[in-house]
Amino acid sequence: MRSEGTFGGRFGGYYVSELLVPCLEELEAAWLEARDDPAFRAELGALLRDYAGRPTPLYRSGALSAELGCAVYLKREDLLHGGAHKTNNTIGQALLAKRMGKRRVIAETGAGQHGVATAMAGALLGLEVKVFMGAVDVARQRPNVQRMGLFGAEVVAIEQGSASLKDAINEALRYWTEQVRDTFYVFGTAAGPHPYPSLVRDLQRVIGEEIGQQLAPGKPTAVIACVGGGSNAIGAFAHFVDDPDVQLIGAEPGGDGVATGRHGATLSAGRPGCLHGSISYVLQDAHGQITETHSVSAGLDYPGVGPEHSHLKETGRAEYLPVDDAEALDAFRWLARREGILPALESAHAVALARRLKGRFGPDDVVVINLSGRGDKDLDHVAKLEEAGR
Ligand SMILES: *Cc1c(COP(=O)(O)O)cnc(C)c1O
Repeated sequence: MRSEGTFGGRFGGYYVSELLVPCLEELEAAWLEARDDPAFRAELGALLRDYAGRPTPLYRSGALSAELGCAVYLKREDLLHGGAHKTNNTIGQALLAKRMGKRRVIAETGAGQHGVATAMAGALLGLEVKVFMGAVDVARQRPNVQRMGLFGAEVVAIEQGSASLKDAINEALRYWTEQVRDTFYVFGTAAGPHPYPSLVRDLQRVIGEEIGQQLAPGKPTAVIACVGGGSNAIGAFAHFVDDPDVQLIGAEPGGDGVATGRHGATLSAGRPGCLHGSISYVLQDAHGQITETHSVSAGLDYPGVGPEHSHLKETGRAEYLPVDDAEALDAFRWLARREGILPALESAHAVALARRLKGRFGPDDVVVINLSGRGDKDLDHVAKLEEAGR
C-alpha cells in the first residue's frame, strides 16, 4: 500500500492481487496527467455542458425553506442527462479511457444505474461496453438491462456467489486483469482501490464547485447528501472541506432501523475493515464477515463506503446519520406533493435528514441538499410498497 493513496494515512490504499497493481498504477498516472491537461479539461467541460446539461440549477425550495425556517436549496443533479450525478463520473472515466487508447470499457452494476450510465458514455464516445451484473439483479432490473442493450452494451450475467453486486465487482476485476491492454474499468463510486476514490471525487467535485459559484458571495451553512458508496456526497462536499464554517452532513440508509440490523448505515454502524481493495468502514459481523445490507433504495445498498468519508467521520469534519426507509419514503412523497419534484429514493434520504435537523438552523442559515437523482426509476417500487401498506 502506498501512502498517497490514503486519507489520513489510515483509510484507502490498494489491497488487491499482484495482477491488478500495474492496472491501477497505469490508471493513476494517466489520471494525474489528464487532470492537469487544459485540453482534457476543456473537452470534458464541453461534454458536461452541451451533452449532459451542466451547470445544474441550484433551486431555492419554498416548501423546504418554510419547513426548516431558513433558506433551503436543492442542487438539481436529477436534471442531469441520465437522471443522476452518475453521468459526471462515467463521461469523465470514458473520456480518460479514450485518452489512454483503450477501446473497451467494463463496469459493475447492482440495480443497473451505473451500468446504464456507463453504457450511455460508451455510446457517446464510441467505446465497446461490457457490464457485469449479478444474475439475480439482471432478473429484477429488466428496464435497466433493456436500456443498456439499446445503448449497445453487452450485459454479462454473473452466476457466482450470491449473484449480486459484490460478485459482479469481483468478476469485473478478474476480467480487467486479463484484458488490461485494451480495457478500462469504469468504477461506479468513490470507493474501491486507489486511485478510484480520488478519481471519482475529482470527477464529482463539480457539484460542490457549482454550488459555491451559485451561492457566491454567500456560502452554505450546511451541505447535506445521501451516502451509498459516497460519490455524490464527496462531490458535493469536496469544494467545502477546507472551510470549517460549512457543515458537511451525510444521510446513510437506515433501512428498517439500525437497531434491527437490516440497514446499510456503514459509517454509523460499521467498523474499519477491508472491502473491494481498500480500507474503510465496513458492515461486518463479529467474525469480520461482510453482512447483508438492506435499504429501500437500491443505490444505497452497499456494505462499504468510500475511504475519504471514513476519514471525514473520524476527524469529525463531517457527520453521518442514518435515515430509515419509512422516513425516506415520507420525504419522497412530501417533496412530490409540495414541490412537484420526484426525488430518487436515495436522494429522499438527504431530504428526510434535512427535515429532521430543522431546529438546528436559523433564519440566516443556508442549507443545500444535493438532489442526486430523479425518482422516475423508483415508481414501480414505491407502488409495490404502497400495496404492501407502507
Ligand atoms: C447511485 C446513486 C446513489 C448512490 O451512490 P453514491 O456513490 O453514494 O452517490 C445516490 N443517488 C442516486 C440518485 C444514485 O443513482
